[in-house]
Amino acid sequence: MSQDFTLQTDAEGVATITWDTPGKSMNVMSIEGFQQLDTLIDEALADEAVKGIVLTSGKDGSFAGGMDLNVIAKMREDGGDDPASSIFDGIMQIHAILRKIERAGMDDKNKGGKPIACVLPGTALGIGFEIPLACHRIFAADNPKAKIGLPEIMVGIFPGAGGTTRLSRKLGAMAASPFLLEGKLSDPKKAKSAGLIDEVSEDPLADAKAWVLAASPADIVKPWDAKGYKMPGGAPYHPAGFMTFVGASAMVNGKTKGVYPAAKAMLSAVYEGALVPFDTALKIEARWFTNVLLNPSSSAMIRSLFINKEALEKGANRPDVPDQKVKTVGVLGAGMMGAGITLVSAMAGIEVVLLDQSLEAAEKGKAYTASYMDKGIARKKATPEKKDAALSLITATDDYAQLAGCDLIVEAVFEDPKVKAEVTQKVLEHVGEDCIFATNTSTLPITELAKAASNPEQFIGIHFFSPVEKMMLVEIIKGKPTGTRAVAKALDFVRQIRKTPIVVNDARFFYANRCIIPYINEGIRMVAEGVEPALIENAAKLVGMPLGPLQLVDETSIDLGVKIAKATKAAMGDAYPDGAVDEVVFWMADEGRLGRKAKAGFYDYDDKGKRQLLWDGLAAKYPVADAQPSLTEVQHRLLFVQVLEAVRALEEGVLEDIREGDVGAILGWGFAPWSGGPFSWLDILGTPYAAERCDQLAEAYGDRFACPALLRDMGEDGEGFYERFGAPQEAAA
Ligand code: NAD
Repeated sequence: MSQDFTLQTDAEGVATITWDTPGKSMNVMSIEGFQQLDTLIDEALADEAVKGIVLTSGKDGSFAGGMDLNVIAKMREDGGDDPASSIFDGIMQIHAILRKIERAGMDDKNKGGKPIACVLPGTALGIGFEIPLACHRIFAADNPKAKIGLPEIMVGIFPGAGGTTRLSRKLGAMAASPFLLEGKLSDPKKAKSAGLIDEVSEDPLADAKAWVLAASPADIVKPWDAKGYKMPGGAPYHPAGFMTFVGASAMVNGKTKGVYPAAKAMLSAVYEGALVPFDTALKIEARWFTNVLLNPSSSAMIRSLFINKEALEKGANRPDVPDQKVKTVGVLGAGMMGAGITLVSAMAGIEVVLLDQSLEAAEKGKAYTASYMDKGIARKKATPEKKDAALSLITATDDYAQLAGCDLIVEAVFEDPKVKAEVTQKVLEHVGEDCIFATNTSTLPITELAKAASNPEQFIGIHFFSPVEKMMLVEIIKGKPTGTRAVAKALDFVRQIRKTPIVVNDARFFYANRCIIPYINEGIRMVAEGVEPALIENAAKLVGMPLGPLQLVDETSIDLGVKIAKATKAAMGDAYPDGAVDEVVFWMADEGRLGRKAKAGFYDYDDKGKRQLLWDGLAAKYPVADAQPSLTEVQHRLLFVQVLEAVRALEEGVLEDIREGDVGAILGWGFAPWSGGPFSWLDILGTPYAAERCDQLAEAYGDRFACPALLRDMGEDGEGFYERFGAPQEAAA
């Protein structure tokens, strides 16, 4: 058993408990860790020589990164047929340890305890902040890089080791809501001004020791353990508190559309907890936490957004070749994408040679970094030094000879195979023979484009999404001849710029666009059928899609839709299935309703381009039918068209790993994150039901819903996708 916690008592009677998980760069809490902490707290409380306790971390720059998710997996496993009781009991044991720290040996009259201070050398997240919240005073190092907070909600759970109850009682429900409901993280100074921690200091360990020696009995009684405690901002039945809860409830439902169980459960825990004494509130929190942990959505979100996202970022699918870190990247084309790729590369400290047809165009692309950093400076997110550092890494040019020192090229010129081929050949005349050439094309086959290269094994697709600086997913596409070093180079580059990669094989629209286009098309098809447009849009949002299909076309523009439709039709010939969609799209284009950029599309826009209501002129051409489908029917059409493409991509070998299919769907196009992604959603539905539903949809609406052989096969055996294709690490919670 590894020793995560150690205790040392000094001559003055301060017991320092140091958390230092062996072999990890940041502390993570395990079952053994809890047991050790519990034992050492008992020891220090019982030792008469100990006057006060300081809990700190042995890691440079951090207190703890969170909980080992296997803790919950173990609790669930131990429960056998009754996981709920086992999880609830496990959580209550954690509460007992933290409550012991908080009460620190005091009796019912708050007499006789020992002061316990917590020292945060830096980052303190999740359980790594819930433990400090149970201590009597929190001292943080003045470390602006540190992140402090409770980000659990971002992965589909909520702070369930007392963080929810303690923070809402400490700050009041209203002030706690950005930290609990949005998972907002703060640096130490901001955390102090928000009331999350007590002190920011140069030498927090020394200050904490001094504090425990000087603390008075009243200093160690938490407000909620003192007589007459009132929740800041008012408890639920107080007039002010009432308004808070009404507002919070509306906000949660508005933001989550009711599909994220964690936010609602957390709000219930805060509301119900506020009505009862503290220890009962912890029990309520534990019940809601158990409820969330047992919801399949939470397990799926943790699996995709935490475990698998991290695994992919760490190179789960990286070929075993030596380090391919990028030193100098050549970006070709300084348009919208090229400028964004330049920005994220320079921000990661990579030298960039940005080339366009004219020096002026290249400089314009470079100026994007300057204006982005200026905005950051105005919002105090960046500094003039950081701006200068980024700009000093970028060389804008129209001279191919400047690309000579590049070890990676990312091409983002016009979407025209001829232009791309010409540029590729010119570049290869100048770069060294080891240089990897990547294209950012969104529609052209990589294998075809690679023909322009003399060394096609060094040719690859690196597909960014727009806007590059915001979108976290990067799709890496292997052409037929692409070699392993090119894949490793692309993955190392994506890691340097801190994005999440998926690696797919070459096929029309790769993975993300392949799935999102049918979603848009299904929405448009329904318009043509007379389905109420508001029903289409709301059905999408109520099932967790960030944008309805019609809003999405408006954002990406109708003319892009026309362009893609024409190109796809030319490539597919008679097999082209989307005539009904084109009718609507071409008509919209003829009407000049090109989307948001034209301030007219499926929606109306005001003069400033702000989206208004759905355009009522649509009904004149496509009247709303008397009989409308049910909400679920519309939702199933919109989701099944996407997930069936994902299944086909897997069946055809375009996707090689369902983890990439799920993570890529959420980060790439916002596929209902609560579901954990398309494959997780099919697993939640159950493959037998999913296959049956395909048959019904196919009969009602056509072959695009035909059940893929793979899903049929799995449905017959009742097998889940993660059962058959899951990677070594399974869902932990
Ligand atoms: P853009 O029109 O904004 O920029 C293209 C740039 O390439 C222009 O600055 C142009 O001057 C330059 N260029 C054209 N020919 C050149 C040449 N021969 N030599 C040097 N520079 C040349 O286009 P964009 O939206 O940035 O798209 C670029 C590429 O990225 C395309 O392949 C596109 O399919 C792909 N892509 C676009 C998006 C998107 O949302 N816009 C998303 C993913 C991928």
